[in-house]
Amino acid sequence: MPCDHRYDYVVLGSGIAGLTFALNVAGNGSVAVITKKNRAESNTNYAQGGIACVTSDEDTFDLHVRDTLEAGAGLCHEEVVRGIVEEGPARLKELMELGMSFSERENGAYKHELDLGKEGGHSKRRILHAKDITGREIESALLTALALHPNVEMFENHAAIDLITRRKLGFATGNRCVGVYVLDNTSGRVETISCANVVLATGGCGKVYLYTTNPDIATGDGVAMAYRAGVPVANMEFIQFHPTCLFHPKAKSFLISEAVRGEGGILRNAGGKAFMQGAHPLESLAPRDIVARAIDAEIKRTGAECVYLDITHKSREFLQNRFPAIYAKCLEFGIDMAVEPIPVVPGAHYQCGGVVTTPEGRTELPGLWAVGEVGCTGLHGANRLASNSLLEALVVAHRAAEAVQREKMPPPQKDIAPWESGSAQDADELVVIYHNWREIRQLMWDYVGIVRTTKRLRRAASRLRSLSEEVRDYYWNYKMTCDLVELRNLVLVASLIVDSALERRESRGLHFTRDYPETDTSAPPMDTILRPG
Ligand SMILES: Cc1cc2nc3c(=O)[nH]c(=O)nc-3n(C[C@H](O)[C@H](O)[C@H](O)COP(=O)(O)OP(=O)(O)OC[C@H]3O[C@@H](n4cnc5c(N)ncnc54)[C@H](O)[C@@H]3O)c2cc1C
Repeated sequence: MPCDHRYDYVVLGSGIAGLTFALNVAGNGSVAVITKKNRAESNTNYAQGGIACVTSDEDTFDLHVRDTLEAGAGLCHEEVVRGIVEEGPARLKELMELGMSFSERENGAYKHELDLGKEGGHSKRRILHAKDITGREIESALLTALALHPNVEMFENHAAIDLITRRKLGFATGNRCVGVYVLDNTSGRVETISCANVVLATGGCGKVYLYTTNPDIATGDGVAMAYRAGVPVANMEFIQFHPTCLFHPKAKSFLISEAVRGEGGILRNAGGKAFMQGAHPLESLAPRDIVARAIDAEIKRTGAECVYLDITHKSREFLQNRFPAIYAKCLEFGIDMAVEPIPVVPGAHYQCGGVVTTPEGRTELPGLWAVGEVGCTGLHGANRLASNSLLEALVVAHRAAEAVQREKMPPPQKDIAPWESGSAQDADELVVIYHNWREIRQLMWDYVGIVRTTKRLRRAASRLRSLSEEVRDYYWNYKMTCDLVELRNLVLVASLIVDSALERRESRGLHFTRDYPETDTSAPPMDTILRPG
């Protein structure tokens, strides 16, 4: 059976990583960018704080490397960190040449310089930002540049379901990725795409948790697809919880950027006490894991629903200018951040682990690459330093694009079996999907959150095993929908997080368990690598 489409490069995802890769190969072959919703919808689009990069005379690569290693709690791969940090300025320069403009400030008469922000764990001001809408501006610059390339086709509202490998097609030798099955969300048809180079740029998995800063697209699809295709994943226990999401029943997933604390915002409890004093030398600007745990403890200790972020010492004019989106969003919910503290709670924010890759995004499966949040290069270790993720996505996607063009994989075979799935459609049964979605997210929040125990992790594993069975039965009988694709991925990614957490018998970085509260110093730190059986 011939394929529906054939391309030189297929990129799954249209955030900073996917678009950067696509732009850098577009001059050298046909490119399909497949994306689940509209082209701008991605974690990238919501990034507020900015991109960490050494650009100031007062800063050095060594300091940025040191801060990253410290945040990563002994698990960063130092050579990877140094490589990415040192390549940052060149990639940022290219981004600016594409039209991205970062906020500047006056430096003496008629002179301007980059207005560098400071975030938790950084010893210097080094965050390039566009006010507090950095991600939106990056998406817009990359999409505008990509639109000029005739070789690139963009497929919006298309969800990748599974990778196609030679092994899955029944061959005994030469396993490699040869394409991908994709669901057209509008027609409901599953299309077969043949391609020698498939790039996962599908972002993270925040939606596996009940409370998250991530938009709905973040269901861990890339990690799940890679794992099902036989590719190992690493360090999935290290989920970063952002300490400060806006706490309001109607404010779905809205983040209050760390930059607010960078500008002097102070965390207070309901009684007005600044509870980070004494908890860490950097107080409210301590690394995210420490702040998130302190907030979690404060909420549990006081029985309050949230804590408060107080930046009322800054003028209204400053806040409106520096944080226009946050200022407006708070006001929409009746909170005037110029005169009252902002109610906040932690939420799942960033996946530090992911598909195991080299520093240039190569996976173990020939023909498959993973760039951006979906991949695990070794940069973040046990805890990502704020604003290093956009930097990693930019650098690694660029490297992958260069490597893939050097290599020239031969085209895959012409005939690939079409996707087969059930055709049953029963509206009553749809409730199963929504129920299981909710159950997974609630159990991950309750049992696999900021503070863990072995007993709760085992309970989560047991429930996830039966949920996986239910989803598997349902999956092959019913008509394919995007919700079903995501549910199948969520249950697998949740299981990978739980298993990784159970494997790590120590507390390190973002993984804190009451049963092993200390960091194990008896042996060199190890990544948690899960290989599909
Ligand atoms: C609110 C918020 C604020 C943040 N602030 C910062 C910050 O200031 N600095 C920083 O460095 N990082 C920040 N981050 C993290 C950073 O934004 C992400 O790590 C980064 O944008 C990830 O880029 P990406 O290209 O890998 O993935 P994304 O930008 O998430 O893009 C993923 C893409 O894949 C698509 N996709 C997913 N599954 C499928 C599928 N099955 N089929 C087809 N397409 C699919 C999605 O639709 C999307 O287009 C923030 C994250 C959030 C949520």
